[in-house]
Amino acid sequence: MKPDFDVLIVGGGPVGLLLACLLKNKGMTFRVLEKRTQPIPHSAAIGITPPSLKILNKLGLTEAFIAAGLKVRDCFVHGQSGKLGCMTFREIPDPHRFVLALPQVMTLALLQKHLGAEWIESGCEVTEVNQAADHCRVRAQDREWTARYVVACDGWRSPVRDWIGMKAPGHSYDLHFVMGDFIDRTSFGDEAHLFFTATGSVESFPLPGGKRRWVVQTDSRLDHPPAGLVSELTRQRAGVELPVEDQVNESVFSPRRFNCDRYYDGRIILCGDAAHGMSPIGGQGMNTGFADAEFLAEILGQPDALGLLPAYNRFRRKAAATAIFRAEWGMWLGTWRGKSLSILRDLMLRFLLSQGFISRHMGSFYAMLTIPFNTLDRVPQASLKPQTL
Ligand SMILES: Cc1cc2nc3c(=O)[nH]c(=O)nc-3n(C[C@H](O)[C@H](O)[C@H](O)COP(=O)(O)OP(=O)(O)OC[C@H]3O[C@@H](n4cnc5c(N)ncnc54)[C@H](O)[C@@H]3O)c2cc1C
Repeated sequence: MKPDFDVLIVGGGPVGLLLACLLKNKGMTFRVLEKRTQPIPHSAAIGITPPSLKILNKLGLTEAFIAAGLKVRDCFVHGQSGKLGCMTFREIPDPHRFVLALPQVMTLALLQKHLGAEWIESGCEVTEVNQAADHCRVRAQDREWTARYVVACDGWRSPVRDWIGMKAPGHSYDLHFVMGDFIDRTSFGDEAHLFFTATGSVESFPLPGGKRRWVVQTDSRLDHPPAGLVSELTRQRAGVELPVEDQVNESVFSPRRFNCDRYYDGRIILCGDAAHGMSPIGGQGMNTGFADAEFLAEILGQPDALGLLPAYNRFRRKAAATAIFRAEWGMWLGTWRGKSLSILRDLMLRFLLSQGFISRHMGSFYAMLTIPFNTLDRVPQASLKPQTL
């Protein structure tokens, strides 16, 4: 049979939309099936790293993203004993020597605008996916489509992943955070500031439009944080006053990690948070998903895409495993509590950040330049030849 489309994308989050834009560039037929009609109001991802800017360049979108966002070039680290040093992106070996701060809602809006509404079926909740030898069938309420491939970009709870029975081994960390965006009245400008204290961490990132994000560590998960909590903990730990009336939104999160056993089953492929989950502290989840999408867009257009899925699985699983580990490491160090551990952390970080070579390397590390296969041109081209299944 001749399927309706080359690809059906389940989920129109940032990763699904980027994949759609890249497939459109290649002249492929597809639809994005998205259950929401409006994006979630609170913004998750804000950090777009240089490898992602390179991927966006394939769509001619890098400049539009840069114009909408804010370039973060320096990240100051503070400890119990005061300022410990600065990690800078100014010297990283990349044409973009910064991490771009752009709220996820704005990333979604830019990708949606580039793609065009006619490619997206919104308000369409996929309820069933199955496959035959040469095609897949997707059902959403009373509608049905067929395609050569289905890509599940349906987020960390991924119903598609459950339907194909793919295991996602991992665990939650017993670490909890509340985050809020505020009107920025500090003098921090476009700098990021991290405060690692004996009673918990406070992280602060600039946002475009005169706002700033504050993320505070809490003792337990607070689904309904008391009013003013972010302001209060920031005042206690960082000595920064945030007027409660300046807060424009709030959300809570408790990080978890997982990496699926395999990123595909037959013609059904997992991509983005559906395939891997990592701590948002470190800002790598969406960027890792963008690189998954770039890889898939390249292979799904080839005549024998099925034979290239093992390579997708191998390279993208490894890249995600590295990002998961790094996100965990960064979160772990920043969340040590108690007096002696924070003295030890201060000593370590003060030493590391005072060593030019190490602090420059940390810039590359947090800009995700040292993640293996972070863009498709870093994948050995010979591996992109089809293998026997
Ligand atoms: C607080 C926080 C801060 C973060 N900061 C960063 C950062 O700075 N940098 C970074 O790289 N990452 C960051 N992340 C991670 C980032 O938000 C995620 O990695 C990213 O959203 C994953 O995108 P996705 O498209 O794979 O999944 P999602 O964004 O989860 O999108 C999935 C989509 O699928 C849709 N969907 C689900 N089920 C169905 C269905 N049955 N039918 C149709 N549609 C469906 C959903 O409605 C949703 O739109 C952060 C996360 C959090 C929580």
